[in-house]
Amino acid sequence: MRKAFLKKARDALLAQKKQVHRQLDEEFREGKEGNIDEGMDTYDLASEERTREISLILSDRDRDKLHAIEDALERIDSGSYGICEMCEEEIAPERLEALPFTRLCVSCQGELEKEAKMHRRGDEDRGHRRASLVDLDDENF
Ligand SMILES: [Zn+2]
Repeated sequence: MRKAFLKKARDALLAQKKQVHRQLDEEFREGKEGNIDEGMDTYDLASEERTREISLILSDRDRDKLHAIEDALERIDSGSYGICEMCEEEIAPERLEALPFTRLCVSCQGELEKEAKMHRRGDEDRGHRRASLVDLDDENF
């Protein structure tokens, strides 16, 4: 990997990290201030519950993303950045630019997506972990 490319990747990762942090901060503040109004009827209460559930899910995803970003930064430091974790081939630079924290080359990612669909029933744990890896990539592509 060229030094200039790694520096660019690091900058992109740090910018994304900052953005997720800001998002988490906002969610935290909203959560604190968003107390239920006394004048609400049951319908409003129900949708308030839903909103809270959704924001919990979002925070989990943000945490996952943050973790993926931290991982990628560590891989830059250790010199393993840009190497596919499954086939150990170099990941295409265009893919790394679009998804700076990806751990898989495009063909392994495709394999995983197929596998995640197959394992959606059956092997829950593995299927879930892999499916969430796939979702994370898809969202940011
Ligand atoms: Zn691969």
